[in-house]
Amino acid sequence: MKNTNIQWSDDSVNPTSGCDGCELWTPGVGGPCYAGNFHETRLSKTLPLLYAPAFDEVRLIPGRMAKAARCMDLAGRNRATKPWLNGLRRKIFVGDMGDIFSADVTFEFLKTEVIDVANNPHGSRHDWLLLTKQPGQAVHFAAWLVSQGLAWPDNVWIGTSITGRASAGRIKHLIKIPAKHRYLSIEPLIEDPGLEVDQLMGVVDWLIIGGESDQGPHYGREFKLEWARALINVASKINVAAFVKQLGSNPTMRRRPLSLADRHGGDWNEWPADLRVRQLPTEIVTREIVT
Ligand code: SF4
Repeated sequence: MKNTNIQWSDDSVNPTSGCDGCELWTPGVGGPCYAGNFHETRLSKTLPLLYAPAFDEVRLIPGRMAKAARCMDLAGRNRATKPWLNGLRRKIFVGDMGDIFSADVTFEFLKTEVIDVANNPHGSRHDWLLLTKQPGQAVHFAAWLVSQGLAWPDNVWIGTSITGRASAGRIKHLIKIPAKHRYLSIEPLIEDPGLEVDQLMGVVDWLIIGGESDQGPHYGREFKLEWARALINVASKINVAAFVKQLGSNPTMRRRPLSLADRHGGDWNEWPADLRVRQLPTEIVTREIVT
């Protein structure tokens, strides 16, 4: 486990390595995403047993979740650099360097590595935030858990990523997962996702919003601040939390570039005041259950 600069979590942990790919990278076509590039150029060299030479070869790394679970309870404590997390349970992002719902990750492994650990006395003190671009596979996993007589733990959050209209279909899978907290990471947003209140009501309790940074194969495509404003507005209308993560390296407002010192656009002191929104779901946020 490592501390992370990702603004919406305290730490990240990767119980698997590698990834099947997504709309941002097709295996064998062009250079991989930021995670894939780091995997192939650094991790596969320094930890060759855990990281295959090619990013699309997925490997299991048992034991990492259990180790992460033993870290200190953060409930009631302040964070020095992430005040929006103050007082909350430790938020651990699971799988920031790949996709744990890749095809070669078995449900037996996910059960032992993720679910059992989240339920044990150490792991139950934290919140484990899964994020996938393959929510359909997560639906199958949830059904498999039921077949084993197991429930999806309340402290295992499930999110899916949306980068634009073309990937918005993932929402229809997310709603089928019986998790207490479901969320969307709408980032990096590379086109107007066109999300409406009706699509999200009762589906999620958190929207993470962000533009593309200069780390990745395409390096900072345009992020219109109007898209972020529209999403904050939708979150407000359905009474769920919104979290603007970063404006990316190429934000524009009314078609004009916004010049920011932070190259990822992650310093909210530089943003227009109405975009400085970093909320997290709490027990107070309620949602209408539609299944
Ligand atoms: S799902 Fe994530 S890690 Fe996998 S190729 Fe896409 S951006 Fe990279």
